[in-house]
Amino acid sequence: MSERNCGECTLCCKLMGVPELKKPAAKWCASCDQGKGCSIYEERPQSCRNFQCFWLMDENFPDEFRPDRIHALAAFNDVKDSCVLHVDPAKPRAMGSPEVQALTDALLKVYSKVFFLCGKESAMMQR
Ligand code: SF4
Ligand code: SF4
Repeated sequence: MSERNCGECTLCCKLMGVPELKKPAAKWCASCDQGKGCSIYEERPQSCRNFQCFWLMDENFPDEFRPDRIHALAAFNDVKDSCVLHVDPAKPRAMGSPEVQALTDALLKVYSKVFFLCGKESAMMQR
């Protein structure tokens, strides 16, 4: 079990959709105190309670890959044997950064496909 905590990262509160709040992906949640945390933490929806990005779950991902530092987060996907890299559409150049490339390479060692979502843009890489 990871001992990590999110620290100053709140990127999933922007990049992930929250159905209970009808919050779309890639838009900040109105309840997010950016860089600090959730202002309705005790009452946050179940999907927020359930969500953990890979960086939070797995200490093997280097500290410098924390999502707010690389403007991207990796998470499980519904499609078998794949994961999703959500990239902040405000930082589209993050897609080509050495950190995101290294993360993609690491993910492709575990999953046969990595999907990329960056606002309305999407792409896929496979082994
Ligand atoms: S993206 Fe990951 S590290 Fe950042 S706040 Fe969400 S769960 Fe925590
Ligand atoms: S309700 Fe809280 S945890 Fe959920 S997206 Fe909004 S700020 Fe983040």
